Amino acid sequence: MPQFDLVTFGAGLSGLIPAVRAAQLGLKVCVLEQEPDPRHLCNSRYTTGVGNVAYFPLTLPVETLEQVIEDASGGSADKDLARVYAKTAKRALRWLQGEGVRFTRPSIGDNPTEPNWVLAPARRFNHGLDWQGNGGDVTLQQLERKLKRYGGELHRGVAVTSLLEENGACVGLTAEKDGTAIRYDAKAVTVADGGFMANQEMVREHITAAADKILVRSAPNVRGDGMRMAQAIGAELSGLGTFYGHLQHRDAMENEKLWPYPTLDALAQAAIIVDAGGNRFADEGRGGVPLANDVARLDDPLSATLILDAQIWRSAGRIGPVGADPHLERGGGWKWEAATLDELAGLAGLPAAALAETVAVYNDAHASAELSALNPARSTDKFKAHPIVEAPFYAIPLCSGITGTMGGLRIDGNARVLRPDGSVIDGLYAAGTTTGGLEGGPKVAYMGGLSKAYIWGLLAGEHAADYAGGH
Ligand SMILES: Cc1cc2nc3c(=O)[nH]c(=O)nc-3n(C[C@H](O)[C@H](O)[C@H](O)COP(=O)(O)OP(=O)(O)OC[C@H]3O[C@@H](n4cnc5c(N)ncnc54)[C@H](O)[C@@H]3O)c2cc1C
Repeated sequence: MPQFDLVTFGAGLSGLIPAVRAAQLGLKVCVLEQEPDPRHLCNSRYTTGVGNVAYFPLTLPVETLEQVIEDASGGSADKDLARVYAKTAKRALRWLQGEGVRFTRPSIGDNPTEPNWVLAPARRFNHGLDWQGNGGDVTLQQLERKLKRYGGELHRGVAVTSLLEENGACVGLTAEKDGTAIRYDAKAVTVADGGFMANQEMVREHITAAADKILVRSAPNVRGDGMRMAQAIGAELSGLGTFYGHLQHRDAMENEKLWPYPTLDALAQAAIIVDAGGNRFADEGRGGVPLANDVARLDDPLSATLILDAQIWRSAGRIGPVGADPHLERGGGWKWEAATLDELAGLAGLPAAALAETVAVYNDAHASAELSALNPARSTDKFKAHPIVEAPFYAIPLCSGITGTMGGLRIDGNARVLRPDGSVIDGLYAAGTTTGGLEGGPKVAYMGGLSKAYIWGLLAGEHAADYAGGH
């Protein structure tokens, strides 16, 4: 029966970081990964690599980052966690650099202050999924090398099936390899299984009844195993209900060349989106992530359509390194095009009178600077609204893509998993997408998938080293 100080599962960044850190501090460590392939698919491999705290660089002063979290979450983020997060961001980055992880700082995305820290080499932006040789892929390989150098082990093809509890503490886990059950005894366990994007039942329970009509814009092997196993030994969940994701062309449900890029966020943020009745149903000015959530919550998430004009296509269509113009077409996407809104409605299968009314009301509100009086209101503090007036007019069928679930296991500032009464489950840690506490809420606050791996991963490894060292 294998015996370790710390076992983490799986082998994405959230699992490797605590393992490497704890091994560096002298622990006997093992990482378990369900996939057998040495370059196994996971979100840390798919990643674009832009490390950030709510879109801001990890190296900003602590007080600035605390404020960033407060602003992004509208105050809904757990304040204790926010403080620790802000305090640890830069240290986690420096530790990764010390372990040979390379970063670059290109000017991409919507960096609000200075360039973010991007895993090197930066993604060669293109339509479709291309992770080979990019920062995430290279970083996983580097951390695996470090793990081995510090004496740690990585067992592939091992799927964790349950957590073991004794006297209120986690003391190991059970797993399966090639159909054979294995027990791993461990003084501590880190759950790092990457969230539940690919588990329709959990997406239905926590996000939308129409889970089968959401694009899994992520690795297909993250099914919320860790959350369910930790719950079974008393863990509390927090911050569920929303997700990090983007708007994509509806054909992305079938066509792999249309996701993760190009997203259609920039177009939606500039134009309007309507439901099957031709009516607006969301504040487009909140941006792509909240809009992806709004679309997901429609009775039929595959019924939303983006409506825009020639001017918006020319401008917002070219925003970002993978603009819809030209990448939508290159990936096999398309749009309906018409000289009049009436004709466009016919092509897109929308009620013509309702669409004409929606666009007229929107254009009037735009002309009189009264967009906030619309129902739903159209905010303009984050993204400029454009009128829909210049032919040709375009309609693009949308779907909502889920990149990362928000919310999950409730943790404390040392990444220890908590029970509903706030007490700690000794020996149980969580890092990355499986954690809750900072994200979500009414503003659909996003803290950064990578920073949750870097920060909670480092803290989990360090605390586990103390804890296991004392046992
Ligand atoms: C296309 C894309 C682009 C992104 N771009 C960015 C970006 O630019 N910036 C950013 O901050 N974030 C980004 N993210 C998000 C970020 O990459 C992820 O949040 C992060 O990598 C998650 O790491 P993780 O270790 O928690 O999960 P993962 O990397 O998904 O690893 C989880 C691992 O757990 C394994 N596992 C699951 N269940 C079990 C089990 N029962 N037993 C054993 N193993 C199991 C899985 O096989 C997997 O290998 C992006 C994500 C995607 C999909």
